[in-house]
Amino acid sequence: MKPRHIVIIGGGITGLSAAHTLYQRMRELGPELQITVLERENQLGGKIRTHREGGFVMEEGPDSLLARKPAGVRLIEQLGVTSEIVNSREEGMKTYIVHNGRLQTLPARTNMGIPAHWPSFFDTPLLSSAGKLRALLDLVLPPMEITGDVSIGAFLRRRLGDELVDHLIEPLLGGIYAGRLDDLSLLSTYPQFRQLEQKYGSLIRGSMRQRQAAPTLTSNHGRSVFITLKNGLQTLVERLHDELHPHISLLTQAEVTRIEPTEGGAYRIAANVAGEVRTFAADAIICTAPAQVAATLLSPIVKEAQALADIPYVSTAVVLLGYQRAQLNVDLDGAGFLVPRKEGRTITACTWTSSKWPHTTPEDQALVRCYVGRAGQQEALALPDDELLQRVMRDLADITGLTARPWFTRVVRWNAAMPQFLVHHQEKLASVTEALATHAPGLFLAGAGYHAVGIPDCIANGEKTAEAALAHIQSL
Ligand SMILES: Cc1cc2nc3c(=O)[nH]c(=O)nc-3n(C[C@H](O)[C@H](O)[C@H](O)COP(=O)(O)OP(=O)(O)OC[C@H]3O[C@@H](n4cnc5c(N)ncnc54)[C@H](O)[C@@H]3O)c2cc1C
Repeated sequence: MKPRHIVIIGGGITGLSAAHTLYQRMRELGPELQITVLERENQLGGKIRTHREGGFVMEEGPDSLLARKPAGVRLIEQLGVTSEIVNSREEGMKTYIVHNGRLQTLPARTNMGIPAHWPSFFDTPLLSSAGKLRALLDLVLPPMEITGDVSIGAFLRRRLGDELVDHLIEPLLGGIYAGRLDDLSLLSTYPQFRQLEQKYGSLIRGSMRQRQAAPTLTSNHGRSVFITLKNGLQTLVERLHDELHPHISLLTQAEVTRIEPTEGGAYRIAANVAGEVRTFAADAIICTAPAQVAATLLSPIVKEAQALADIPYVSTAVVLLGYQRAQLNVDLDGAGFLVPRKEGRTITACTWTSSKWPHTTPEDQALVRCYVGRAGQQEALALPDDELLQRVMRDLADITGLTARPWFTRVVRWNAAMPQFLVHHQEKLASVTEALATHAPGLFLAGAGYHAVGIPDCIANGEKTAEAALAHIQSL
């Protein structure tokens, strides 16, 4: 094979996973394959960022990954850090939902808020009797007739009623996307709910059956539902860097500004690398940058790619608060709490990190992590850090009674960070990827902005796209 060059735009977990797969294949194919990763920021990892200081392991972005999706654990194993996996203490711990300003326990054994255990459903004060009766209609309603896609909100409201959706499901599910269920696509977010409906004729019945067969700590290879790594998820990025570094060109402060097709189906990439314009010849390109950037880079080549600019992104912030344990005036006896929209709070969710993940915090300290901002509730993000912090602390005091002063705080802003997969997202994306395959073979899209936001999904998508890019260059 003539020497070939694959360029990956973006050094987040998707781009690095793609690079890792290519590196493994490089060892088979030899020096004929060259790989370059171009990352705009001055560090790799994208949304994955851990701040380690004074014995604290503070996640500024994601704090855990789903163990049941194999790509995440597999990558951890391949990188030799299996012994660093930490199980969440969440199982057996309480999680709370704010209801009329007060903390109420999340009913035990739900499937993302869908009842999967009768006693806890009937006991919960989160729903009125009318709300419970309405939810039970799910047991008899026929499946929804759907052609194409529908919003997950419309789908769930029809089966389970507004109360269950607004009080329980929205804070749980919407939190993952920082989105609004009435806008998000069923097919692109939780298609498994549609399958439950089809298979069991009822979401509640289906959830109960699945719950009986659900993985426990022992059946899930001894892992909790969510896992992390002892020194934070950035370990993944560091291990990937160490493994790839000598063999793959990993450039940071390298912002891709233009892509042009050249002779013979190849491409020329222009990038601003630490203030200097450089060009790279590529036989294939994997673009993992967010959709707005991809639209700008790809639409001059394939006009259909302009549609990517319509994928909205929501901004969020993570606020970390550290306390001397001795000064805490409340017992953080749980994993944390979720805040439904109608409560009208600044905080959308809060993790009692030192309780859920004790390894992150020295024993005499406590760490609390609050989220701010979601679709339709982003006003507070316009506030300067100190005002945002005041609002967060006021919410914490009102909701939990926590009035102790944190001795340190950290506000981490994530602007336009969470892609929103709106209804018909998949169809729109399919027309862009088809147009790319037809008019610009060798140009691939991968990552959170297009397929799924969870870390294991991003890893799987990066790996799969790397194989597609390799197949492309082998066909040249
Ligand atoms: C606050 C927060 C909490 C989260 N919590 C969780 C969680 O607990 N569990 C979970 O599984 N997921 C979580 N997620 C989601 C998950 O972290 C992300 O979806 C995932 O890390 C995205 O990876 P990516 O590589 O696709 O994109 P990114 O990490 O966004 O990487 C894309 C990269 O492209 C670079 N780039 C952009 N433009 C250019 C350009 N022109 N040239 C070169 N490079 C460019 C960017 O700088 C960036 O580094 C969370 C996300 C956020 C923001």
